[in-house]
Amino acid sequence: MTEHEEQIIIIGGGPAGYTAALYAARAELKPLVIEGFRWGGQLQNTTDVENYPGYPEGIMGPEMMNEFRAQAERFGTRFVTDDATEVELTDGETHTVKVGKDAYRAKAVVLSMGAEPKRLGIPGEMELAGKGVSTCGVCDGAFFKGEDVAVIGGGDSALEDSIFISKYADKLTSVHRRDDYRASKIMQERARGKDNIEFLTPYVPKEFVAGDDGKIGSVKLEHAESGDPKELEVGGAFVAIGHIPKSELVEGQVDLNEDGYVKVQEPSTKTSLDGVFAVGDLVDYTYRQAVTAAGSGCKGALDAEWYLRDLPGPAPEEHWGKQTAEIISAVDGS
Ligand code: NAP
Repeated sequence: MTEHEEQIIIIGGGPAGYTAALYAARAELKPLVIEGFRWGGQLQNTTDVENYPGYPEGIMGPEMMNEFRAQAERFGTRFVTDDATEVELTDGETHTVKVGKDAYRAKAVVLSMGAEPKRLGIPGEMELAGKGVSTCGVCDGAFFKGEDVAVIGGGDSALEDSIFISKYADKLTSVHRRDDYRASKIMQERARGKDNIEFLTPYVPKEFVAGDDGKIGSVKLEHAESGDPKELEVGGAFVAIGHIPKSELVEGQVDLNEDGYVKVQEPSTKTSLDGVFAVGDLVDYTYRQAVTAAGSGCKGALDAEWYLRDLPGPAPEEHWGKQTAEIISAVDGS
């Protein structure tokens, strides 16, 4: 095992991790980002991003992540383009993050591994991603103006997405595998109050089918009880069946909520362990936007910087005294 001493380690290379790195680098902490083999997070699978401020013409997701990364690098961030394999977190001591045979040690760690949208795992889902199949209603809803769309899922996310997308879509079909929706009553009432939302239950999606233009043309469904098939012609489909936070690396070490999201002491990014901070979609199951993740990454870096600053250690005066003595002796040649 090769050991490396660091000041601050950031695990995860999405908007939250790169923003944390930018702030930590500008605070001269020389951050190390273990950005993952497939760095860039969910934006790596996104096409046009039109809701990130500062890009009036929009930008492609992967290009935006490239720019985030380059900006963090400009101020001295270093990257390990591989996945962290193991972590040993402590309560206020030195933490260790392992990547294969390398062990990186630091007093401050920022967790920003993100979350992944759950997938249906049916044919066409990945092939038509970015071609009409989306996992983010808030991000992509406005691209479906005047279209007939389907939203899959019966939770709050699915109905919240449906209410948002129904502003743009001509007709929206909410498809759920049970007759009972899991979503809160208020969300159900709001969705049922929309004239252009129809409810189709209990139907299980079986396949997303491409139209002649290569984009989504229809969704094949099956009745959950009778097994009867049904095909819904659509110009867009949203899969909103929940998210999985990527917290398995730290499970059993920091406190997680019942859904696996890392718990933080809001409004800070402090976790249950001193010197360990968590940001972005790993923590946030409500907003999940690039801009909120970036803001949270900024908070994580500032919390970590203040934490390191306040650690017990030699008083600053001692340090200055030593430096002054070194300068005098260098000038004197003594
Ligand atoms: P969720 O509550 O877990 O709901 C997921 C939905 O997807 C369920 O209806 C589930 O069906 C369905 N589903 C899961 N796997 C499926 C599959 N393979 N095929 C078809 N359907 C499938 O997830 P969520 O809606 O993302 O919400 C997560 C948490 O965030 C919840 O606590 C929610 O209240 C909260 N949230 C709150 C708000 C808000 O308050 N504004 C907004 C969004 C989310 P079953 O019901 O049959 O299991």
